[in-house]
Amino acid sequence: MKEEIVKLINLQEIDSEIAGFDTDIAKKQQIITDREQSIQEKKEAITASQEKTEALLQEQRDTNAEHEDAGTRIKDRQNKMMQVQTSREHQALLKEIEENKRLLKETEEKVLQIMEQIEAVKVEATELENLCSGEKELLEEETVTVEKAIKKIDNTRKKVANKRTTLSKNLQASSLKRYSKLLIKRDGLGVVPAIERVCQGCFMSVPPQQFNEIRKGDKLNVCPNCQRILYYKEKEEEVADEK
Ligand SMILES: [Zn+2]
Repeated sequence: MKEEIVKLINLQEIDSEIAGFDTDIAKKQQIITDREQSIQEKKEAITASQEKTEALLQEQRDTNAEHEDAGTRIKDRQNKMMQVQTSREHQALLKEIEENKRLLKETEEKVLQIMEQIEAVKVEATELENLCSGEKELLEEETVTVEKAIKKIDNTRKKVANKRTTLSKNLQASSLKRYSKLLIKRDGLGVVPAIERVCQGCFMSVPPQQFNEIRKGDKLNVCPNCQRILYYKEKEEEVADEK
């Protein structure tokens, strides 16, 4: 049985290694996904600035029309001034002329403001476009690098996977079945050490008698709490492990 446990420990090591490869590959793919998303966000921002520019241009046209209308009204009222009889009518026309003159000034200022806004949006859009094309170049470079890296990981992964196939053939069908189920149910960790009576999978204590059995290693022991397969391991000395 001791030999079987050793095989299971080795299998667990291989499976953890394989899981590590998967995590590495996912991380590399994430770089590309993040970059693509960033580019997409900039494209959307560029579209938004184009729409903003369109809206501002429309506002500019409307304001120009208002400006022209005010000018026309002023001329019209000035002409009418010649024909009015009473001072009351005269006053009313003067008032209208004043109002339209105010409108002339207002619309003129507004058009200037709109032009400034259009200019600002244009600067912003140019900046975004530059960033976007820069990121597109980066994406191309990153895609090449990531593809290479993933290929490399995949090659190593295949070798490790072959090792796994060989090893799993040497295991008893029952223990392999039990281990495989645990691997799925216990998040990739089916075989764990018990150190100082503590299961290193769930960190609960194992009863003393069972711990003795684990130490002997004569039969397959499972954690009473998480059901992971347990093996005996000495407590490691506290060493600064900087890998
Ligand atoms: Zn446990």
